[in-house]
Amino acid sequence: MIWFLGWGMKRKIIYIAVVGSIFIAFILLLTFLSDNVTNFVEGTEIKEFYFNGEKTDLSYRILKNSKIEKYEYTAYMTSEDIKKGGSEESYYINIYRLASVAYEVYFNGFKIGQNGNYVTYSNIWCSYAYFVIPEKIIKDKNEIKFVIYSGNELGLSKFPVFITDSINYMKVRDILSLFSAGIPNFVLWFTFITFLFLFFFFINIKGEKKYEILFYSLSAFFIFLNTIDYLTINYIFTDILVFKKITIMMMYISVFFMSLAIYRKYKRKFTLYTAFSLFAAILTVSIFSDNLYVYQRIYGIMNFLIVINVLNWSYVSLKYRKDTVDSILIFMSSVFLIAFSLYDTVLIVLGKFSMISYSLFGIMLFLSGMLGMVLNEYIKLQIKISDEQNINKMIYERSIRDSMTGLYTKNYIFEYLENIENYIFFLCDIDNFKNINDKYGHHYGDEAIIKTADIFKKYSCENILCGRFGGDEFIYVMLGSQEKDALAVMNKIKKEINVSGLSISSGGYVKKSGENVEFVFKKADKALYEIKNSGKNNIKLIK
Ligand code: GH3
Ligand code: MG
Repeated sequence: MIWFLGWGMKRKIIYIAVVGSIFIAFILLLTFLSDNVTNFVEGTEIKEFYFNGEKTDLSYRILKNSKIEKYEYTAYMTSEDIKKGGSEESYYINIYRLASVAYEVYFNGFKIGQNGNYVTYSNIWCSYAYFVIPEKIIKDKNEIKFVIYSGNELGLSKFPVFITDSINYMKVRDILSLFSAGIPNFVLWFTFITFLFLFFFFINIKGEKKYEILFYSLSAFFIFLNTIDYLTINYIFTDILVFKKITIMMMYISVFFMSLAIYRKYKRKFTLYTAFSLFAAILTVSIFSDNLYVYQRIYGIMNFLIVINVLNWSYVSLKYRKDTVDSILIFMSSVFLIAFSLYDTVLIVLGKFSMISYSLFGIMLFLSGMLGMVLNEYIKLQIKISDEQNINKMIYERSIRDSMTGLYTKNYIFEYLENIENYIFFLCDIDNFKNINDKYGHHYGDEAIIKTADIFKKYSCENILCGRFGGDEFIYVMLGSQEKDALAVMNKIKKEINVSGLSISSGGYVKKSGENVEFVFKKADKALYEIKNSGKNNIKLIK
């Protein structure tokens, strides 16, 4: 992501567009595959059914009746038609996504199997089932009867009733498992992991953005709950209406939270209105629709509200953009989401169900955009924090050092020594410094102080503290050192300073246990005073 941040805007847009296009190409490929499943495998479709003696098909319909009733659909097939399903000896009836509570399959009067259970509720909406046709009962003309128990809805969503042999059955099964389990599983994990990431950022980011990110993560969490729909519907024994109310509601709640996040970002009141109108609709639908027929109608209004919300995201992100990368991501993600959902809606309106829910891909693209945006935010914030830390470090470093020489200040050294047990403290003062100032000027005097400080620095290490006491006075502290070594080092320093043309007097004191810094300092000052009074340019260490 750091490399992404470093790019120019044009390059970022191209990158997002390329990734988006690859994704869309992949989806188009899947669409092609799903629309042509029956072309990839050998088999016979059953297209004609008879219901109460009338010719009909078995396409999806919503029933006005929400009570479970029995519906019988019959198809007729010659043995030749059945055997078009492949050259193997055994034949299968494949059924995928027959909306109902349960159904039984009869072949020439023999029950060859059932899917679901109409006594206990079962939602077999997404399930795939196959039924073996025993070879012995195949005649020249055959009657296949489907006894379907349904309330609320009935019929096939996309895949036809399809007869294959045992080899082709396996191909059908593999392709269908991609649509019925593979893709929903992928989306499920994707949304869950996105939620975890967003929640992690919510916990780790401080400041104004925090609650915006919380709303993104809640949005991801509810959309994750919504995608569970596809995988759990077969295992949950409840009325289809109750189940749909709950799972689909998750999607609306997700959009609601997303709008709250967008509101926090751009602070446009209208975003809040769209969010809460959706929230009101969620409550209304969950309370007032008591059959799928009514539900599906109100559901249309809800979808309209979703579109209004998403359109609003793209509008505000484009118009009131603050951070351009964020806004581009929100705008592009919203547009993708609208495009995919619209495609789904058009298919539903036209009665053409698809094998995949395109909204799922829209949601995935959208969440990727949001994740990218928050990641961008997180990295920016981390960089800011480390900059601030560096600045603070710099300010601290400056506060403990003398600006002219870079040596420690008196205050810092005194504070530091408060908790140190053994050390030898020297106070050093350049001799007759006033004369230098008078003779060569103040500027030359400054240079002499800096030069002297550099000599002290040269003789400093981990166990030595060098400071400027003020004026032409220096502090030189040796931690845990022996007197002999201390005097040797001080002599070296004195000699080097002498070589530079100055002379210096140093008074030292070896700290005893129980003595404080002030006391030690006074002792060293006294030693220095004595040296100054006895000819200068010398060292005195009081034990
Ligand atoms: P002594 O040998 O007794 O130390 O004589 P001295 O002339 O060095 O006297 P003292 O140490 O008391 O005076 C220090 C002088 O240093 C006083 C002041 O004018 C000068 N001084 C203090 N700070 C600075 C500074 O930052 N730059 C310069 N150029 N001179 C300073
Ligand atoms: Mg002096």
